[in-house]
Amino acid sequence: MIVRRLLPAAFLVLAGACSCRGAEPSPAAPPAAAADRPNAILISWDGLSRDVVRELLKDKKLPNLAKLVEAGSFQEITVKGHETETRPGHAEMLTALSADATGVRSNYEGGPVPEGTVIFDRLKAALGKDAVATIVVTGKAYVGSLVPDGSRKALDLFDAGSRGAATVGPLALGALEKNKARRFAAFFHFLDPDSAGHGYGRDSAQYRQAAVTCDAWLGAIADWLKKEKLDGSTLIYVMADHGMDPGGHQHHNAPDSWLATNDKTVIRGGTIADVPATLLARMGVDLKTLKPELLGKPLVGKPAAEPAPAGERKTPAPVSTP
Ligand SMILES: [Zn+2]
Repeated sequence: MIVRRLLPAAFLVLAGACSCRGAEPSPAAPPAAAADRPNAILISWDGLSRDVVRELLKDKKLPNLAKLVEAGSFQEITVKGHETETRPGHAEMLTALSADATGVRSNYEGGPVPEGTVIFDRLKAALGKDAVATIVVTGKAYVGSLVPDGSRKALDLFDAGSRGAATVGPLALGALEKNKARRFAAFFHFLDPDSAGHGYGRDSAQYRQAAVTCDAWLGAIADWLKKEKLDGSTLIYVMADHGMDPGGHQHHNAPDSWLATNDKTVIRGGTIADVPATLLARMGVDLKTLKPELLGKPLVGKPAAEPAPAGERKTPAPVSTP
């Protein structure tokens, strides 16, 4: 009798324990990053020419970018398939898609990119909504305007506006601090080099100083990662959406972009789309499953000169523009 009387009570305790566990969305917070499950930070230094980056690296003016390159590599990225302007450059950077697919061929053509095509949508779809925190902070409102409404809502943090590094830098650090418990993927956009290039010209000291300012914020991000012990598990990709015309104040024909990364698996340069494709692949997205098919191919593994495996599209020819 005693046993029979005790059983229901024991059952209730167990059932209670079970339903309690079941009521929680997950037994523990989604795991944070690890070396084989990295975070990624994609940073755009708007309008900074490849040769000026090289000059500043040579003159040791960009110590934090130099540290990335030392850990990984510096690669040449070429802007193809659209105008060498901010919106099409970032549309490609945020989707790994062609201008045909996004409809963004110049600053004046195309609205937001299609829903579901932003790299952060791809990450949430592939890894799970709660498995990765996604962050977008921009220094130009119209870079933010590339992100469609649904994609904005899906982001854990979206902050777009027109402001310089003195504002974007602290916002970026705050966004990381707020989302550090989970794996994260972030995009930070610094307008300063483009702004100084238009104002003072590509050959000016101000253009170079803007790069130095961006580098200081890269250093602040790197220091924060180190403090949080995330430096070994966070891939950083720093690049530009376009360059600046030699001797000029504009970027009518400025396809010379670049990539500096601590990602040791990156072994070649390519086009803008290849960088977000690399980020997605390194975070664990199976690129073959994505629709529409990405223009970008990861800059990892076999050199571009080797034939692609059967069934894999080679890097497509640039889209011709009138
Ligand atoms: Zn510009």
